[in-house]
Amino acid sequence: MSFNEIKGQDRAIKILKQAITNNHLAQTYLFHGPEGVGKKKAAITFAKALNCTTHENDACDQCLSCRKIEQSIHPDISLLQQDKGEIKIGAIRDIINSMVYRPIEARKRVVIVDEADKCNISASNAFLKTLEEPPVDTVIILISSGPDTLPQTVLSRCHKVSFGNVPTQTVAEMLMQLKGLSQAKAESVACLADGSIGKAITLSSADVKEVREDILAGVAKGYRDPYLLFEMAERFSKDENGFYNALYWIHTYFRDILILKSHGDFTLLINKDMTDHFLKRRDQMTIERLLDIMGFIQSVYKGQERNVNKQLALEVLGTKIGDNQWK
Ligand SMILES: [Zn+2]
Repeated sequence: MSFNEIKGQDRAIKILKQAITNNHLAQTYLFHGPEGVGKKKAAITFAKALNCTTHENDACDQCLSCRKIEQSIHPDISLLQQDKGEIKIGAIRDIINSMVYRPIEARKRVVIVDEADKCNISASNAFLKTLEEPPVDTVIILISSGPDTLPQTVLSRCHKVSFGNVPTQTVAEMLMQLKGLSQAKAESVACLADGSIGKAITLSSADVKEVREDILAGVAKGYRDPYLLFEMAERFSKDENGFYNALYWIHTYFRDILILKSHGDFTLLINKDMTDHFLKRRDQMTIERLLDIMGFIQSVYKGQERNVNKQLALEVLGTKIGDNQWK
């Protein structure tokens, strides 16, 4: 993938290309911005571009170096990812040890730490010294969609490159191109994906319209009829995709009410077709209640990979949604 295939991040890409052209590289970068907007792709492309034998400041995807990086078999390019929700000290130590020697093949060794905010405290501490003085010929890239949770000591050592939400029109064009969606469908999914290509691709793989309507109708009625919510919990806990979709759409439901409650800006709503319903619910719910439900959904979503009991999680959520104590 060359830089021009990463859509909607022109500013970030320009910074990276210029750094290579001017040979003015930072040793430690932080790529930050929302999930699913191309940070990891940009990091891998940057690693390729730094070592490409054909192009000066981009990846050709054809030379041996580019191909090895693409296949994750390049000895000097490492991608560290979380394991069961955490980046552990052992993984960081392995990376640090691998930096003792000069790169074997690469002009620049590149270490990419995806979801760097998942480093536990001891892993962050172990990494600090390396971030302070990375070995020569090494570029470290931390990736995070929640950089505020990174220790200040880590943040202060990084050159920050910001990635923004991808414009809706760009997401729609990519969906038409990559997934072959019709323009109308691509636009409706793009609108719901909140500027995230990753989210848009997940959402377009299910029958978005049907699933969305099913879930939102259930939540809209279910707060008066808990049985409906328990029935939904059973249905949507059967597989990952259903579970993910249910959490996502339930979250958008309360997010939209929260937006109406705090800003009242209709244009920011994801489920614009439900504005009238949300306006009614807005006055029935406190901000604390909304934040409580949304926080619970986020914590379930994060715990998803740790094998949470999906049905139980949705039932607890149902109990929170169905609570009659709202004012
Ligand atoms: Zn190349």
